[in-house]
Amino acid sequence: MATINSNYNKLAAGYLFPEIARRTRAFLEKNPGVKVMRLGIGNTTEPLTPSVIKGLFSGVEKLASVDTYTGYGDEQGDARLREALKKQYAGLGVNLDIGEIFVSDGAKPDSGNIQSIFGQDNIIAVQDPAYPVYVDTNVIAGRTGFFNKQRGLYDGIVYMPCTEANGFFSPVPDQKVDLIYICSPNNPTGTVATKEQLKTFVDYARRNKAVIIFDAAYSAFIKDDSLPKSIFQIDGAAECALEINSFSKIAGFTGVRLGWAVVPKALTVENSEPGKINALWNRRQSTFFNGASNIVQEGGLAALSEQGAKECRGLIDYYMDNALIIKNGLTEIGIRVFGGDNGPYIWMQTLNGMNSWDFFDKLITETHVVGTPGSGFGPSGEGYFRLSSFGHKQDIINAVDSIKQNLVI
Ligand SMILES: *Cc1c(COP(=O)(O)O)cnc(C)c1O
Repeated sequence: MATINSNYNKLAAGYLFPEIARRTRAFLEKNPGVKVMRLGIGNTTEPLTPSVIKGLFSGVEKLASVDTYTGYGDEQGDARLREALKKQYAGLGVNLDIGEIFVSDGAKPDSGNIQSIFGQDNIIAVQDPAYPVYVDTNVIAGRTGFFNKQRGLYDGIVYMPCTEANGFFSPVPDQKVDLIYICSPNNPTGTVATKEQLKTFVDYARRNKAVIIFDAAYSAFIKDDSLPKSIFQIDGAAECALEINSFSKIAGFTGVRLGWAVVPKALTVENSEPGKINALWNRRQSTFFNGASNIVQEGGLAALSEQGAKECRGLIDYYMDNALIIKNGLTEIGIRVFGGDNGPYIWMQTLNGMNSWDFFDKLITETHVVGTPGSGFGPSGEGYFRLSSFGHKQDIINAVDSIKQNLVI
């Protein structure tokens, strides 16, 4: 008799985005003809750049001729792409071996799959609020208890509250944990950890033989050169951290699919020799994954070329200009906002201590703008709201104008 993995029953049911869709539909049914404006989505909207399009075409053309055709490639990714990524890290002062770089089909799969190489008993720590993938994949893997509705969190996970009081970056846990998920620049708060802040976690991880899983999907949005774009810019991180990144937000590859993970050979855990974690990730990927698309990897290579990188910079500037429009617009009417300077999200405080879902209803009713309730990212997100700078500029301007004119403060 087959049974299911009953851990799936513990999931708080992908509640956030379906509930946003439900409330939006209900609003539109009551208000036919109204056009809602979406500031809630973490999805890119602007077209791929010319160099990337050329790279993708060249990948297609290679498949048309017997001399250049390729079938399965290396599971770890095209060596040229890994060399280009290695060079990009070298620009940050981080020296990697290409055997430490694993090309993938994205940062979401990697950040979800990485837990599978660690022991069942490992204690998980997450930033609160956080990208839901880190928690949900550990729920499915059976590393947590049940969802505690009262507290809005899972039993058995260590939540690290990121609040205004700590600059949206928590101190290290006051107990021993094993796997620590950190996302910087952060989704949803849009804030970035400093080198000093990351150093506290690297020191903690080395002291406790813990592993930091560092999600750097938004690193290219950092404008302030003093802020770290990679955890490996912190001394000692190669012994206690791995990093996940993606072309999704850098180059608009959300639908194209390409990412990478860096798993240092120096990374060790309890009772393992250096190289073991790297070898396990290689084993996991070779077993479950047959490599990223060869066409897409040509596109990625083009994105990393000098011209490609310049064009992608333009894409990022476009979105960061949107972030500024949102930030300035809300600040003008007295709303308190965080993030948006070195990351594409704006984390706004709701009005008068209103809870996140009540504010969702108020915002859509009064302004026709849809955003994302902060409480959906964890209990410390209560009383906050995430606005995204991904969108066409005119749509962003219209939404911000509507908030300025129609929100009853
Ligand atoms: C968008 C995003 C990713 C990227 O995921 P892909 O699978 O590469 O598209 C990863 N982490 C966070 C926190 C994100 O917001």
